[in-house]
Amino acid sequence: MNRHLQSENYSLRQQLESLLSEARRNEDKMRRFDQLQRQLIGADSLLELIRLLLSEYKLAFGVEFVTLALVDQEYEVTRILENSIANDTACSGLTLLQSPATLEALYRGKRAPYLGAFDELPHQTLFNAQPDAIASVALLPLTRHGELIGSLHFGSADPDRYVTGCGTDFLERLAEIIAICLESALSQERLKLLGLTDALTGVQNRRYFEHRCQAEISQARRYKHPLACMFLDIDKFKHINDAYGHQTGDEVLKRVAKIIQSQLRECETIARYGGEEFVVLLPQTDLHHARQIAERIRSRIEEEQLQAHAGDPINLTISIGLSMLPGEDAAAENGQLAERMVASADKALYQAKHGGRNRVVCDGSPPSQAAVQPVPLSWILRLPAALMSRLLKAVP
Ligand code: GH3
Ligand code: MG
Ligand code: MG
Repeated sequence: MNRHLQSENYSLRQQLESLLSEARRNEDKMRRFDQLQRQLIGADSLLELIRLLLSEYKLAFGVEFVTLALVDQEYEVTRILENSIANDTACSGLTLLQSPATLEALYRGKRAPYLGAFDELPHQTLFNAQPDAIASVALLPLTRHGELIGSLHFGSADPDRYVTGCGTDFLERLAEIIAICLESALSQERLKLLGLTDALTGVQNRRYFEHRCQAEISQARRYKHPLACMFLDIDKFKHINDAYGHQTGDEVLKRVAKIIQSQLRECETIARYGGEEFVVLLPQTDLHHARQIAERIRSRIEEEQLQAHAGDPINLTISIGLSMLPGEDAAAENGQLAERMVASADKALYQAKHGGRNRVVCDGSPPSQAAVQPVPLSWILRLPAALMSRLLKAVP
């Protein structure tokens, strides 16, 4: 009897120990979950949130494969992450989908997590892994207001890690938090973009330009590419305002922004620097091509047939100063080079204004031929006869 009691006591102790260590494991899991949750909520950009999901989760919970798919019908996420997707290894587990159709097919219209064995046909495309590397998966639909906005996928080599019928409360809660964090990060990014756009013309603003300029300089130095910068200032704009009113002035600003934009490629930046001044960044563009682009912009604006409300034609011209990213100065910081490049373009613009406006001037070189203004006839007629005959002889 005594022996029987002893053995029962031993067995109960073992059960208790096992329950205690299970409770400790759960407590530890909850602590890590709580920590991750705080990090997700505290993420201050979409990129940071994606990084947390794709790398921190792996570390915190020891999952071998984590991937994320986001529905991006308007290419909004693509634009927000444009510079990071190719360069950031943390983004390698991210897929952007142009429609929710593949995810709808994956979850078969349901909105609950799927836990179970890895099935090659529907699951292989979700993970960038060898087919036999994953034995079980947990797939979490991310939804907001009933709509699928994405899907988070965990893959484990352990066939018993995710099994059908296992409780999914924890994962469902995680999916809800992630979906809310994604939505909130996206609206934060939208606000940031709004803060970087000029409300009147719709092009980027000076703040964006300053940020972008440093990023482009860093790329240009890294890959030893040329980078050109253009400063553009509408000529006698005050006169347009005075003669036709501020509203017409605004319309002119919008039109000029559109014309400049129409001459640029996707990767080139146009920003309204202030008032009637615009600035353009031309990555991987040498001085020769930058001058051609500037000249095209100048002539398009000159040719523009704008009319004021009264029907009067508006004479519209623009002056452009051009500069290149200064040559290699390894010690200089990107910010210093940006200041020098912008100051040079501004200096060239000043020369263009002083040279008679409606022209392109490159820093350190004479005005472009195409933009040199013809000498007015009235001026020639005032020349002394001897000089005039010498000039006429010089004409071929
Ligand atoms: P310049 O050829 O030397 O550049 O002469 P300008 O008249 O273009 O230059 P100035 O700096 O004398 O005048 C710029 C004018 O631009 C003055 C300002 O009232 C006007 N302006 C600045 N921002 C806006 C705006 O958002 N809308 C309108 N309509 N006018 C603006
Ligand atoms: Mg100005
Ligand atoms: Mg001006």
